[in-house]
This record gives sequence, structure tokens and C-alpha cells, in this order.
Amino acid sequence: MKDSMSEKDLLLIRRAIELSLESVKRGGGPFGAVIVKNGKIVSESYNQVTLHNDPTAHAEIGAIREAARKLNTFDLSGCSIYISCEPCPMCLGAIYWARIDKVFFASTRSDAENIGFDDSFIYEEISRPMNERKIDFKQLLREEALEAFRAWEESENKIEY
Ligand SMILES: [Zn+2]
Repeated sequence: MKDSMSEKDLLLIRRAIELSLESVKRGGGPFGAVIVKNGKIVSESYNQVTLHNDPTAHAEIGAIREAARKLNTFDLSGCSIYISCEPCPMCLGAIYWARIDKVFFASTRSDAENIGFDDSFIYEEISRPMNERKIDFKQLLREEALEAFRAWEESENKIEY
């Protein structure tokens, strides 16, 4: 990351940090995110989990949703995301799904863990066999569900992504 860090990157990561502070003032979690394309800010967001009673309302998710809406595409290739803290597994997944090219972050997972935002157990859970996870997983009706997959494969008006 050192090789591509510029003054502009510092400004943008500072904006993400600023959003994280604003979030705390509003009663939200201390996280902010900014998405940038071609050097311009496309979207900004902060953690709104407690504000909207939405466990998925992390800063990164809010910023991805707004960027996709503004750019009118589900494909955020060519975008970078600046985050006040290293992303959790959910946001990391969303960043991959959105095809964002670059991630810049300030504080780390272990910094977040130190103030009670521990996501390391999720990384551990992912690597565990299903029957050893804390949440009960049961598989049923696979064949019936595969009908939608067959319909997708055969569909002529599908939008691949
Ligand atoms: Zn997250």
C-alpha cells in the first residue's frame, strides 16, 4: 500500500475518520467510509446500526449502497473505499461482491477488538465445520431449491453478475 499512498489518499482517509467521529456524536458506532471513483467522492457513510436498528448498517455497506445507486450499477469496479477501520467479514464480503479495486483503512481489527468490536470470532466460525458453529445450521430440501438454479441457467433475460 505504501507505494500508492498519496496526499489525496491521506485526505480521503481523514474524511473517513472524520465521519467516524461524527457517527459517535450522533450515537452510532465509531466507523466511517468514503467511496471514490476517478478521484471524486461518490458516497460517504457512517455506522448506523443503533440509529436504525439495522445490524447490517455498517459504514461500508451504507457507502456501497449509495455509490451503487448514484452510479446506477451493481459493479463498483474502478472505485476505491477509504475506511476508518479495517473491514469486518460482512463488509469485506460486500467489498468483494461490489468489485471495489482498492481498500484503504486506518485503524485495525485488533484496535476495534480492544474497544469491544470483536469480529475475530466470525473469521473463526467461517473456517469451522457447520456442526461446530455457534449458530445451528440445518440443510433441507436441496433438490427443490435447485429448481431456481436451473431456471436461472435457462433464463434468457438474466443479468449476470
Ligand atoms: Zn462491517
